[in-house]
Amino acid sequence: MPYADVILPLPLPGTFTYALPSAWEDRVRVGMRVLVPLGKSKHYIAIVVALHDHKPDFDCKEIQEVLDEAPILLPHQLTLWRWMSDYYMAPFGDVMTAALPGGLKTVGKYRPKKESYVRLADPYRSPEGLNIAKNMLLRAQRQQEVFETYLRLAHTGEAENENDHEVTKEELLNEAHTNMPMLKNLIDRGILETYDKEVGRLNTGAVAGPLQSVKALSPAQQQAYDAIHQQFNEKQVVLLHGVTSSGKTEIYLHLIEETLKAGKQVLYLLPEIALTVQMMTRLQRVLGHQLGIYHSKYSDAERVEIWKKQLSDEPYSVILGARSALFLPFRNLGLVIIDEEHETSFKQQDPAPRYHARSSAIMLAHEVGAKVLLGTATPSMESYYNAQTGKYGLVTLSERYQGIELPEIEVVDVKDLRHRKMMTGAFSPQLLTAIRKTLAEGNQVILFQNRRGFAPMIECRVCGWTPKCQNCDVSLTLHKRLNLLVCHYCGTTYRVPDVCPNCGSTELSGRGYGTEKIEDQIRDLFPEARVARMDLDTTRSRHAYSRLINDFSSGRTNLLIGTQMVTKGLDFERVKVVGILDADAMLNQPDFRAYEHAFTMMSQVAGRAGRKGSRGKVFLQTKNPDLPVIHQVVSHDFPAFYHDQMEERSYFHYPPFYHLIDVYLRHPKEPVVEQAARELGAQLRQWFGARVLGPDKPVVGRVRTLSIRKIVLKLENGIDRRKVREYLHYAQTTMGKDPRYGALQIFFDVDP
Ligand code: ADP
Ligand code: ZN
Ligand code: ZN
Repeated sequence: MPYADVILPLPLPGTFTYALPSAWEDRVRVGMRVLVPLGKSKHYIAIVVALHDHKPDFDCKEIQEVLDEAPILLPHQLTLWRWMSDYYMAPFGDVMTAALPGGLKTVGKYRPKKESYVRLADPYRSPEGLNIAKNMLLRAQRQQEVFETYLRLAHTGEAENENDHEVTKEELLNEAHTNMPMLKNLIDRGILETYDKEVGRLNTGAVAGPLQSVKALSPAQQQAYDAIHQQFNEKQVVLLHGVTSSGKTEIYLHLIEETLKAGKQVLYLLPEIALTVQMMTRLQRVLGHQLGIYHSKYSDAERVEIWKKQLSDEPYSVILGARSALFLPFRNLGLVIIDEEHETSFKQQDPAPRYHARSSAIMLAHEVGAKVLLGTATPSMESYYNAQTGKYGLVTLSERYQGIELPEIEVVDVKDLRHRKMMTGAFSPQLLTAIRKTLAEGNQVILFQNRRGFAPMIECRVCGWTPKCQNCDVSLTLHKRLNLLVCHYCGTTYRVPDVCPNCGSTELSGRGYGTEKIEDQIRDLFPEARVARMDLDTTRSRHAYSRLINDFSSGRTNLLIGTQMVTKGLDFERVKVVGILDADAMLNQPDFRAYEHAFTMMSQVAGRAGRKGSRGKVFLQTKNPDLPVIHQVVSHDFPAFYHDQMEERSYFHYPPFYHLIDVYLRHPKEPVVEQAARELGAQLRQWFGARVLGPDKPVVGRVRTLSIRKIVLKLENGIDRRKVREYLHYAQTTMGKDPRYGALQIFFDVDP
């Protein structure tokens, strides 16, 4: 078999054929990595997907090196890659790029992992020393702030704390919003010092004490558990629809235990890395070292080690992770749990492959004969529809553990209150009263505002000028801590102007509320509160997540402000009040799923309240208190919400009744993309008729200097999708070759 077909980690369609030197013929197998030349001087690591002896009709190059002794991919993984490339219309190479950790696809050696830490220099490690250091810094305010941040992170001098917590350099720089030169001042003055430590990559987080056994299930939970079993006899996929805090996680643990007893492995997927932190602690108590964690905040080297462990004779039996964990090799997968299955973060937006981890994990399970349990308090329309129509099994758990009532939700009419001048910033009087009372009673509060930064836009009060990103069609968000304007689409930052560049006025003011501003107002209103904020800006490092969550669960902080991150699956005992500050921002999104998202986020964040002990209370602030969806959230009425949504979806030809493919065109020049889009639209209409909508300019019509157009295909169930994909690929290729459209990008988003 002197030829090998390989995949290259490049956005190119199909596979590439290379000649296999005869010396390696016996050694090379499908799923191994080889080094191959491409073009004049480049080399890539490629994966062998087939071996054969059909001589290609071109002069093919030779494989340069064989990099593995054994395949690093199991056969079913390649099948999954193929399916993803096909179904999501993404180049095979892009699937490879997404699936393999960097360390397995780049040429280079792995170094043992070192992390850089910061600590107090020896002379200052006593109460007296600490005072001396503080005095030294009296005149250097910035250094003082960085130093104070260090002390806070290390919990220095706190009673219950004999030794300082270890603080990484990255963490300190992040938390203190500073950079290395500033920190270096403190090091040069001999107050702080840095040290490196080799950190074990695996077994993160020590397991405290002996393992606990799983908790005994309540009668309602036991019933659900038995029902899941029974349904698995007939169906590959079962949807567990259990209200918030009904104990879904405890049921998963029982299923995991049983799967392990049968000698099989479990993949436990969560939508968000933030959630893995809390879940890791919960699972580790029961599973100990059988549990492995895998997601993108782990370094490449760590991920490579886990990958290799999964191929070894002693793999982790349970893998907990975010969507990329489904790419790991499993030799003996028995069960996939997809927790919070409704979450849209299971769908990868950019770059390709734009895959849905739920669908892909179901596909994976299907290939290896594993079962899939989807769990949620607010099912996605698609999954619930599949359960209603019998494709999936359905198990319902409608009471909270120990019969605690679902929280009471009070709708607050913000329009009316504003009119009567009764709002304090973003807060209604009833919410403020409740916060005050809750904190005074030693309980906790969560405030949900789905926008980060300080103000979503700034505006000149004289002429109405607002700053826009130079690369994108969006207003810039003011970040007060950084004192910068930030584009949330491309990340470019700009200085905050002192005067309006349009009219010279100095009256520039922020409009709207981001989490930073909410935090400022709360600190003003409740100086006694111990406030924490959880959003993209405060969780850039892996440590930051765990710190925020651990501080809140231990009570070190008692008021948590956050974006959608705080709506998800977290389990805190003492949260009694939840404030949804701006429901309308969610409802007014231009997306057919806007209401679904809004319903989900509101129900989920409400579900954080009153999980133990007494009933919780939620304040839902909106300008549209009469909308049916608001009532459905208040009355926890998922069936009514589902019913309304289904009517709309069917009427307007949306999923689950229709299958959507978004076709995107991007080009640096607006007229070119406009012309190309019109041409492509006309072409698609010839083939697909009224199933084609657009082209349209999306709400944000330019991102990272590229102008964008979008065409939507609404395909009825039962249409031959393979044919559709063939046509689309054909159009993509022919337009790509058209000299008028050089640099034009066409790509697809399947099931957006
Ligand atoms: P869900 O995943 O449905 O939101 P959880 O599994 O987080 O609910 O359960 C909510 C809380 O109740 C958790 O703190 C959990 O430990 C506790 N709990 C649930 N079921 C049991 C049980 N059978 N025994 C003891 N505690 C339980
Ligand atoms: Zn102006
Ligand atoms: Zn931008």
